[in-house]
Amino acid sequence: MVISRRFQIITFITWIGIVPPGIFLAFILFPSKEIEWLNLIILFALLFVTMTMPLQLNNITVSFERWITFTIFFQYGVFAELAFTQIAMLILVFSTKSDLPLLHRFCVNSIIFTLISLASGTLFHFAGGVIGSTDFSNICLFGLIYAISYTTINCVLMQVYLYFELGIYSLKEKFVLWDFASTMILLPFSISLYFLYEHFGNNAILLIGIPFLLVLLIARMYNRSDNLNDKLSFAGIIGRELAERLGFEDVIRTFIEKLKDVVPYDNAYVLDLRNGEHLITLMASEYGVITKKVNGLSFKQKKTEDDGLDTDNPKIFATQKEARVLNNFEFLQRVESVMTAPIKRNQKTEGFLILTSSRKNVFQALEMKIVDVLTGYFAISLVKARYYEKTVEQSVRCGLTGLHNFRYLNSKLDEEIIRFHIGEINSLSVLMLDIDHFKSINDTYGHQSGNDLLKALARLLESFVPVEAILSRYGGEEFVIVLPNYGKSETTKLAEKIRNEVELSTFRIIPDLSKEREPVDIHMTVSIGVACVPEDAGDAKELLRNADRALYIGGKQAGRNKVGVYGNEWIETL
Ligand code: GH3
Ligand code: MG
Ligand code: MG
Repeated sequence: MVISRRFQIITFITWIGIVPPGIFLAFILFPSKEIEWLNLIILFALLFVTMTMPLQLNNITVSFERWITFTIFFQYGVFAELAFTQIAMLILVFSTKSDLPLLHRFCVNSIIFTLISLASGTLFHFAGGVIGSTDFSNICLFGLIYAISYTTINCVLMQVYLYFELGIYSLKEKFVLWDFASTMILLPFSISLYFLYEHFGNNAILLIGIPFLLVLLIARMYNRSDNLNDKLSFAGIIGRELAERLGFEDVIRTFIEKLKDVVPYDNAYVLDLRNGEHLITLMASEYGVITKKVNGLSFKQKKTEDDGLDTDNPKIFATQKEARVLNNFEFLQRVESVMTAPIKRNQKTEGFLILTSSRKNVFQALEMKIVDVLTGYFAISLVKARYYEKTVEQSVRCGLTGLHNFRYLNSKLDEEIIRFHIGEINSLSVLMLDIDHFKSINDTYGHQSGNDLLKALARLLESFVPVEAILSRYGGEEFVIVLPNYGKSETTKLAEKIRNEVELSTFRIIPDLSKEREPVDIHMTVSIGVACVPEDAGDAKELLRNADRALYIGGKQAGRNKVGVYGNEWIETL
């Protein structure tokens, strides 16, 4: 949350207009009863300790200091309550870290507390409440009025503040509910402390003050482990989701996206560390957009030892100043907090996760621990995805030529036929190619040389196929090229070009049959068959069969080194 300078100034001026006159007014209108200093010091200590122990309930911070401020109010009146709340709040604001500017935070809290104290105190007096009364029903009844007005005014002022600062109209219902409920629960404690003090003096603190704080302490410990449990179980879910992802990029994307549920970052960068020295961005999330093109971070590719990046443990940099240690990174947008974490596999750092936020002190130690656990899951999932992708890749490729195999061709061709029928592509052609007299090449130069020729032809074909085409090794010395959006004449032209190129090419092989193993230049030719959808076939099987027929009748039977084109009535040889 970034607070505009203008809003900060307005808040400060409002503070000057409200708080000092408010305190003065309280002093004049509701002068304090005679003060018992020891009691006041004890109450102040209780107030401060309670203020430092808020609970996190369903993402709402509930703090319990009201039970002491009410007691102070019943005992000493508006002025004492107002002054004490201000002092305790001042200490608290200066001792806790937040992304909001300190003075602004103090002013906002101070204004709200002053207004609440003045308004509900006035209401208490106006209704007939008496400060320091020993009448049980007087304190109960007017205390109740005081408490209700206190929580109501608090909610109204919070709403006003949220509206001016964030433009949010409605306060969370949960907040209103918790504020009201906690006030009602705390009121009896305040009244008890008040009357116990009447009877037992400062010993009342032992009877109710200390037990109250202990209960609060236990609740807080439970609350903490509860929040930790929440985050840990979230981490478990993320770990499982990562394990389910099989694609390399999918794993990175899932990691970055899910991490946001546990760590409140603005931008996240996953960097690869190649050979232990080169940094490369794999993927990033910048203001909610997953991208490979990074705008907010620049760095030198070559990693240096003294770049401030910890290669062993995750680290938090709470402010812009602290983050300056990371001298290789230049943040191009406003960045205050940074968290870095190594991505390790087998004790070796393979990459880094960089999280940034435009707010100060955003990343917490607990979140850093969770990130540490999650980068472990992430690294394992990445290895698994790489392995899986490699296996898949291998299963659709021919081991010798590296081209796609028969299985891949069949499934892709089916997909292309569907694309044609739903109108995504206008035509679809197939070109089937077979080396002429390959057996005799094998017989003359040896099987190994035959293999080398197949590889050389594969490279030659690759240089001819358009990007969207699928080039595959169909069988022994047969190749198929699937050409989406290619009509018959274009395909025939391409076939003729390939045939011609093979005929003119010289292939250098080292015969593995002869003893000398001297390189020999040989020539070979190919025959090609062409068939197209929709004119020659309606489905994949028919298309391949007719390309095959065109190849054998129009190519081989017509004398080889020819292109045969399938037609309705005859097969034409070019
Ligand atoms: P045609 O012009 O009629 O196509 O004659 P051809 O000799 O090319 O055809 P045939 O079908 O008689 O023989 C194909 C040969 O291709 C047989 C086989 O030895 C060879 N062959 C098939 N697969 C491979 C391979 O992976 N490596 C090598 N070196 N040869 C192969
Ligand atoms: Mg052949
Ligand atoms: Mg053949």
